[in-house]
Amino acid sequence: MSDTIQGHGQAALRTRVRETKFCTACGACVNLCPYQAYYQDEVVTLHVCDLQEGRCFAFCPRTATDLDSLRARLFDPQDLTPEIGAVKDYSICRAADEKIRRQAQHGGTVSALMSLALEEGIIDTAVVAQGGDRFTHQGVAVGEAAEVRKRGKSKFIAAGTIAAFNRAAQSDSQKIGVVATPCQALALAKMRMKPFPEKDNNIDKLKLVVGLFCGWTLSWKKLIPLLKTRTNLEEIVGMDIPPGKGQVAVFTQTGAIAIPWEEIDPLVREGCRICLDTTAEFADISVGSARLPEDWETLRSWNQVIVRTKTGQDLIDLARKKGILEFREVPAEVLEELKKAALNKKRTALKTIMEKTGTPEDLIYVDRRDSVICRILG
Ligand SMILES: Cc1cc2nc3c(=O)[nH]c(=O)nc-3n(C[C@H](O)[C@H](O)[C@H](O)COP(=O)(O)OP(=O)(O)OC[C@H]3O[C@@H](n4cnc5c(N)ncnc54)[C@H](O)[C@@H]3O)c2cc1C
Ligand code: SF4
Ligand code: SF4
Repeated sequence: MSDTIQGHGQAALRTRVRETKFCTACGACVNLCPYQAYYQDEVVTLHVCDLQEGRCFAFCPRTATDLDSLRARLFDPQDLTPEIGAVKDYSICRAADEKIRRQAQHGGTVSALMSLALEEGIIDTAVVAQGGDRFTHQGVAVGEAAEVRKRGKSKFIAAGTIAAFNRAAQSDSQKIGVVATPCQALALAKMRMKPFPEKDNNIDKLKLVVGLFCGWTLSWKKLIPLLKTRTNLEEIVGMDIPPGKGQVAVFTQTGAIAIPWEEIDPLVREGCRICLDTTAEFADISVGSARLPEDWETLRSWNQVIVRTKTGQDLIDLARKKGILEFREVPAEVLEELKKAALNKKRTALKTIMEKTGTPEDLIYVDRRDSVICRILG
């Protein structure tokens, strides 16, 4: 980490994060002020701001981040693991309601949990992602469970969801839940530290973060020309990453198109190549696709779920009690496999970071003295 968040605003964010292409398009720097906007999957400057100490810079997941302090603030120390963060509970489950599963990416656990949180009054607003025209993607705040369920499925393009959180936090919403990728959950965790206590963007309204496992997102600008060579954008109904096949599957109204990894890799956002987090370590609950020794068609309808906080545990316990989720036995090796994959991502990201900076002492946004990084780098 070459820097601190003190004394930096929009100009530093532009030169150190956006121009270097470290930006993850999380949306955290949008809707805090009228000066920046989210367009397609980029942040654009509408007006220049000369404020020296900006929340945009402080909340960004690619500016100086003290991961140990965030862990200490948010989690029980005995739950922490170096590979995947805090683990209170780990399970394989899915939405019991088949209608939810049909509209979802995998087992519909995310949609089921967010719906339950709304129905039980744990939150009054859910911030999720929704598709726009020409295969764009952005965050939206909704107040009804049915609206959450309509917006299931994953799109591997950044959605700038935290911009929608910033807007909702300034509205009448009092209890907000957010579905967040790991970098988005990190931005929310940085907000929770209240680096500028007198202007904390109403972060106390944030009551729930449901994280998504995430390997990478693709640049919208680069993906669209590729997709257009294979299908009409309007015909696409989903996309996924079947395990072990080295390809991305794009589902259309008439069937599935396989795009080999060699064509996908150049489209990955540069900001994802320095990402250390696979499992949304700063969420209350994190959800990914199940990885079991079974065929993909069976696996696709299940999720693996990490519970990290008491908020997350209370919600999953409620879902179990009410029969909202159904659970299945977890083979012992599955969690170990997940830890191995997550550690690999950290190692690869650290290697890429050090190639960029030329020294292990400057890790761009994380601290060389961080406890997890010390374990990896020695
Ligand atoms: C960019 C990306 C990369 C992923 N990579 C992996 C991976 O490597 N390994 C793995 O196991 N799982 C990965 N996932 C998670 C996986 O695709 C599913 O989201 C997860 O298994 C939950 O399934 P579900 O059926 O419960 O979700 P659903 O019930 O369908 O809910 C999905 C939720 O995610 C929101 N969402 C969709 N796309 C985005 C986005 N781009 N940004 C923010 N929110 C979004 C939707 O609005 C919805 O609320 C990734 C997800 C995304 C978005
Ligand atoms: S990573 Fe997020 S906060 Fe940082 S510049 Fe990009 S959109 Fe803004
Ligand atoms: S790989 Fe990391 S930086 Fe990229 S979208 Fe996923 S969480 Fe964000």
